Amino acid sequence: MLKIRQLAGYLLVFFLLIGCTDDNSEQKTEIDKSKNLLSLGASAQDILSDQTYTSITIEIVYVNGYAPNPEAITQFTKFLKERIYKPDGIEITQRSVSSSGQAPFDIDEVAAIEKDERSIYTVGDEIAIYIYFADGSNEDDEDNKFVLGSAYRNTSMVIYGETINNFSERNNAPEKEDIQAAVLNHEFAHLLGLVDLGTEPQSDHKDDDNEGHCNVSGCLMQSSIEFGSGIVDVIDGGNIPQLDAACIDDLRANGGK
Ligand SMILES: [Zn+2]
Ligand SMILES: [Zn+2]
Repeated sequence: MLKIRQLAGYLLVFFLLIGCTDDNSEQKTEIDKSKNLLSLGASAQDILSDQTYTSITIEIVYVNGYAPNPEAITQFTKFLKERIYKPDGIEITQRSVSSSGQAPFDIDEVAAIEKDERSIYTVGDEIAIYIYFADGSNEDDEDNKFVLGSAYRNTSMVIYGETINNFSERNNAPEKEDIQAAVLNHEFAHLLGLVDLGTEPQSDHKDDDNEGHCNVSGCLMQSSIEFGSGIVDVIDGGNIPQLDAACIDDLRANGGK
């Protein structure tokens, strides 16, 4: 009997240990980030339609001093409501962080910062987007061709805040909030799969010289929006460029408005 009791005691301890191990591993469970580590355009339909995700949360993380202008966020929100179906809500959160000290950036550095700073990931029926307002420029910038923003994964994009600040201080440059709004909308439209980045073109409007862009003059998806050189021509008197009919047709065919 004693032996059996001892054995029972061991078994009890053994099970308790297993129980503890389980608890510990549960506490240490990593957030599942897999849905947010896909290639650019991979979630175009998921963002556009409400088939899989009925709401969206956009986490804007900006380096201290580089908060987006509220007017730019208003324009961005309007753009989202016009193009995507999210009946349970479109939420934008904003949070400041300290500088990474890594400017100017290549896209691998931007992705490494995301790993540290991003806090919201896609879960359940809510898809999450991350936007980083960086305190620097892209390291490949040239005098007449500089990058204002980049969409680099299915739910990730960066806005080069420092580049926009410098550009908006030039003679005859558009207002900073208008540049921010145009670049936010443009980069987000890449997440929506434009042009031919996960959303199939319904007509021939691809820019053959600039991958992912539209060849219709005045369209939001012209490459000149992303590369500062041409943005003066397309932001006219505070009117930021809109998607043309061809781009909107593409989005509608892939589940958007
Ligand atoms: Zn672009
Ligand atoms: Zn277009």
